[in-house]
Amino acid sequence: MARLAQTAGLTDIQREILSTVRDFVDKEIIPVATELEHRDEYPQQIVDGLKELGLFGLMIPEEYGGLGESLLTYALCVEEIARGWMSVSGIINTHFIVAYMLKQHGTQEQKEYFLPRMAAGEVRGAFSMSEPALGSDVSAITSKAVRDGEEYVLNGQKMWLTNGGTSTLVAVLVKSDEGHPEGTAPHKSMTTFLVEKEPGFGEVRPGLTIPGKIDKMGYKGVDTTELIMDGLRIPANRVLGGTTGRGFYQMMDGVEVGRVNVAARGCGVAQRAFELGVSYAQQRHTFGKQIAQHQAIQFKLAEMATKVEAAHAMMVNAARKKDSGERNDLEAGMAKYLASEYCKEVVEDAFRIHGGYGFSKEYEIERLYREAPMLLIGEGTAEIQKMIIGRRLLEEYRLQG
Ligand SMILES: Cc1cc2nc3c(=O)[nH]c(=O)nc-3n(C[C@H](O)[C@H](O)[C@H](O)COP(=O)(O)OP(=O)(O)OC[C@H]3O[C@@H](n4cnc5c(N)ncnc54)[C@H](O)[C@@H]3O)c2cc1C
Repeated sequence: MARLAQTAGLTDIQREILSTVRDFVDKEIIPVATELEHRDEYPQQIVDGLKELGLFGLMIPEEYGGLGESLLTYALCVEEIARGWMSVSGIINTHFIVAYMLKQHGTQEQKEYFLPRMAAGEVRGAFSMSEPALGSDVSAITSKAVRDGEEYVLNGQKMWLTNGGTSTLVAVLVKSDEGHPEGTAPHKSMTTFLVEKEPGFGEVRPGLTIPGKIDKMGYKGVDTTELIMDGLRIPANRVLGGTTGRGFYQMMDGVEVGRVNVAARGCGVAQRAFELGVSYAQQRHTFGKQIAQHQAIQFKLAEMATKVEAAHAMMVNAARKKDSGERNDLEAGMAKYLASEYCKEVVEDAFRIHGGYGFSKEYEIERLYREAPMLLIGEGTAEIQKMIIGRRLLEEYRLQG
């Protein structure tokens, strides 16, 4: 039988990278994931292994010490990793978004300064848009930067930073007043600052505090934090791209590739849920036969596999569109929306197939059940994806005359 979620047209190098990552996931991640997750423990050994494989530099150009691979290669690796443990893909995701933003929008000096160390996994990235009072409505950001000579002074509170504690470079989106007087459209008065800091919690740089880990229902192991700026002084040469007022567009560009990434995570988690469901269905017997022989269970498996295939195809399509240099917000929004919804449904079906045992922490599906909901929210909720999709459709299908 052909495995689910195959991808046609890959190069030999892509196939080799994926087979190495899959092997790593099977040997180094799956056997320990549930235990580490239950202890909410940072998977340091796994992260070290990913560093050795070069995954932190997968999409960073070769001239900066990375592997210079495509978004498709990256997304397929993320799918494999999330199949093992979704949190691990979260550890590389924010790093990847910041590296991508630097590659696309950074000044030459910023690229040369950060990208080689990011490729080596020495500098680790996080990005910060959300605040306590807003997530979807990015234009409502209240954190502020005010120019003071050759520096900016940043104040405000940020929320929900994935890798907020472990990262050493945070791309922070704030409102900036310089050259953008009151009344300027919100998306033209935002700036991304490249904020370097020590890893850990507490005051990690004068004026910058990471209070501690937020306790979450799932997505454990990876740290999620707040970030408090109180008179944080950042040199003017750490404005991403060197010019203020471009932050909103830079972040949206980063989030667009992040959406393909979240779709890939949904695909990986759904695949694992299918594997667990189809395996358990052949082990459990009721009414004198394997439950897999009851048509109702076979129908579930059929629906689950169809969803895995559909989500994978849309995710691959969105990644290839971006790699071709074309705008992909429609495809990325659709892929993120479909893959995260299907992931939740496939995980729930696998959970139901497990009967009462699915509720026990001894079974892996219990972990997946708590992980899937994060994908419904991260990088924009389903409602936000539908807003993006709807607007783009009306652009494409506008009535003439
Ligand atoms: C575990 C985790 C990790 C995260 N990591 C990061 C990170 O690294 N960096 C970062 O910046 N952020 C991060 N986030 C924040 C995440 O992006 C936001 O939670 C998300 O965008 C939703 O924003 P919100 O929570 O403020 O919900 P809200 O925006 O308050 O939305 C609440 C509800 O209202 C709906 N809604 C909002 N506006 C509309 C509308 N116009 N029409 C219809 N419905 C609407 C939403 O869909 C949702 O159902 C993370 C969140 C989580 C949970």
